[in-house]
Parts: sequence; C-alpha cells; structure tokens
Amino acid sequence: MNTLKISIITSYCLLLVSCNTDKTEIARIYSAAQNDSTSYYILRGLCKNYPNRLGGSANSIRAIDYMKSIMEQEKFDTVYLQECTVTHWDRGGEEIGTIKSNKVGSTRLSVCTLGNSVGTPNKGINAEIVEVKSFEELEKLGEKAIKGKIVFFNKPMDATKINSFEAYGEVVGFRFSGASVAANYGAEAVLVRSVTTANDTFPHTGVMRYENTPKQIPAFAISTIHADILSKQLVDDPKLIVHLKSNCKFLADEKSFNVIGEVRGSEFPDEYITVGGHLDSWDNTEGAHDDGGGCVQSIGVWRIFRDIGYIPKRTLRVVMFMDEEMNQRGGRKYAEMAKQKGEKHIFALESDGGCDKPKGFSFDTKENHLNYINSYKNFFEPYGADQFVSHGAGVDIDFLKEDHDIILGELMVDPTHYFDYHHSGYDTFEHINKEFLQQGSASMATIVFLVDKFGVSE
Ligand SMILES: [Zn+2]
Repeated sequence: MNTLKISIITSYCLLLVSCNTDKTEIARIYSAAQNDSTSYYILRGLCKNYPNRLGGSANSIRAIDYMKSIMEQEKFDTVYLQECTVTHWDRGGEEIGTIKSNKVGSTRLSVCTLGNSVGTPNKGINAEIVEVKSFEELEKLGEKAIKGKIVFFNKPMDATKINSFEAYGEVVGFRFSGASVAANYGAEAVLVRSVTTANDTFPHTGVMRYENTPKQIPAFAISTIHADILSKQLVDDPKLIVHLKSNCKFLADEKSFNVIGEVRGSEFPDEYITVGGHLDSWDNTEGAHDDGGGCVQSIGVWRIFRDIGYIPKRTLRVVMFMDEEMNQRGGRKYAEMAKQKGEKHIFALESDGGCDKPKGFSFDTKENHLNYINSYKNFFEPYGADQFVSHGAGVDIDFLKEDHDIILGELMVDPTHYFDYHHSGYDTFEHINKEFLQQGSASMATIVFLVDKFGVSE
C-alpha cells in the first residue's frame, strides 16, 4: 500500500473518529437537557411572579433582579447588568369597547390599546364603524366615507398557511401602520382584528407606530371572537356606534438593563459567541413563549455545557435583552457597546419564536459562512431539528449585523401555535411543554458547541 493511500485512509479514519466523537458529545447534550428541569422552574418563577414585564415597568425591573440572581447561581465567570434607557408607555388601567346598536342593543367588546398608541379623550370616542379588509379598500372609500369614523381592519390571518409567520406577515401591517394610514382620511380611531391564529376572547396587542400621519389617533386591538361579532352586527345595523375608551400614555423614560452572563473562552477569549432571548414582555401577559422561554433556554446552553464538562474555546455571553417589544433599546445598546469595545463576534443566536418543538435554525450571514454552517445540519437529523433556512434571525441580535463577518441565527420551532399565544393573556407558563423547551435548549447548545469547537470557516 503506498504512503498516499495510507495517509488518505488515516485522515478518513480520523475524520470518522472525530465525527463519531462529536455525535456522542451531541447525544450527551440532548440527554443532559432532557434530564434537567431547572429552566422549566426558573421560567415558572419568572412568569408567575413577574408577568407584564414591558420595558420601563416596575415588573421589568423586578424581572431583571430575578434573572440576575438566577444567573449568579449558574457559575458564569461574571454576571453583570448593561444599562440602557427605555421609553415607558403605560396602558393606564381599564380599556373599554362597547357596541351600541339600536337594533341589537349593547355588547361589550374585548379590546386593548396597541403599544405606542395615544389614549382617547376622557369621555372616550363614540363613532360609526367602517369595516375594511385592505388598505386598498380604505383608499377607495376615501375621506368622504371615513371622516369622523372608526376604521375596523378585519382581515383574519390566513389559516391555510402552514408557516404561521407568513400569515402573520400578511396582516401585521394593519396593526403597525393602520392608525397612521386611516388618520389621512380623517378617521377618529382604528380597531384592528387581533393578529392571531386563535379564535379567542383575548385581545392580542403589539407595537404600532405613527408615521407620515396628520394626526395621532388611538389604535386598539379587538379579540377575534369579538371582531366576528362586530362584523355580524354591522350587517344588521350598519349605523351602529362603537364606544372606545383608554387612558394610555407615555411616562418619563426609565433606566433599564440587559442582564449578561459571561464565560471567558479557554483558547480564543477575544472571539465572542452571544446567545439570548428578550426578558421584557407585553403588559398583558406572562410572556412564557414570548420570550421568557427563550431566556431560560439561553441560560440552559451554559448549564448543559457544564453538565457535560465542555469548556468553551471562545467567550460565551448569555444575554437577556430588554425592550425588544417596543424599541429594542437593549439590543441596540449591546451592539453599540460591542462595537465601541472592538469585540469580534463570530456567532449570535437568539430564541424568540416560541418554545414548541424545535425544527432547526434560520440564519443570516455571508454565503461562505452559510455553506460552512450547513455542513453541521446532519448532526441535528436524529433530533428532528435539521431544517436550516436563511429567513433572517432574531431582532435583538440583528444590530450586530453591522459586523459583516458575523453569523446570526435563530432557533426555529414548529410555528403552528405561536400566534395563538402571541402578545396576549393566553401566553402563560401552562402552555409551555417542558420536553420541547429542553429540546430547544439542546439544539441551541449543539449549534453553539459546533461553532465554538470548529469555528465558522476554513
Ligand atoms: Zn418576542
């Protein structure tokens, strides 16, 4: 046998041994995760004791303290707070929506204001309704039909879409910009069908913005069941009146924080890998899937490494971002500080798509990195998490993108039910499946392990 042949066989054997070793390590990662309930109980504490953690609120500060003390027990090299300033929008107590119809009588509606919205005048708004299913329809109707009325955007999410994020993307524009557009035609307020796949009585909130608009008018979400009731009553009584009342307003900006746990890399301490979720939630929810679960899964990555005795070569940062829902001040601050300190971030991973069964990852990076990271895909096959796509990554880590050499990633889970929970009172701890939560954490730990161990390019 010639030496070339021997050397080829030797490298093949070494590759096989290394590949099998990695498979064994990954199996240990998944078993460690499946045998551990710590994250699940931390999440319970967060959801039950500190729900409604909107940036700037008292509960968001309590949640920061809670998570910091949790992380201090997790044997990071250091745990610290990174200060950022957040706006403080306050819902201002009870919100009222009532149909007043001469034909049908009075019907109470389940409504809530959208984040960033102005409140109504003290006496509320009483106006007729114009129901539309698109901006085109609104434009066609024009000022004559809309002035002085409440525009009711009543387009359901498309239930036929297997990927609910696609269906969400088609209608979320009404929530985000509906008020700005409707104000151009003289509307008094907007009522937006909750952007959810659920048929429920929870109004699902979310952020809205005033852009290019002559007037800031109040924006409300209405539950899907009540949107259907209102639509039906409008057929019987097109002249019915809806009364809307809210007291939301902006208070003074507040000091807030990202919570960071850091483990120094053993070989390349100046190369950083960031893993995180966002600690803030909307003010009407426990924020279990969105995104308390992503936070505990991220802490879980480090716990799994400790359990299997893996020492990261690169510096690992676990970050609980603040203010994702409103203005992403936490994510912005994190990237700003990384840039200021000249830190080289090679990989950032976020979990913010819910905690259902993990399916794989979505990446956002340069072609050469993508090819390299795709070569890890097969390791995930036994765990059903081997879908690697390039549909963008997490909102908080996206600010690191300015560093063009970074790989951004997001854990991708079965999206079927995510928008049932999303931004509503239904997003509670009880809807978290412990096994899926842990499998998500294991999948995250696995991709971090591979990137940390082998790097991201030749
Ligand atoms: Zn989120």
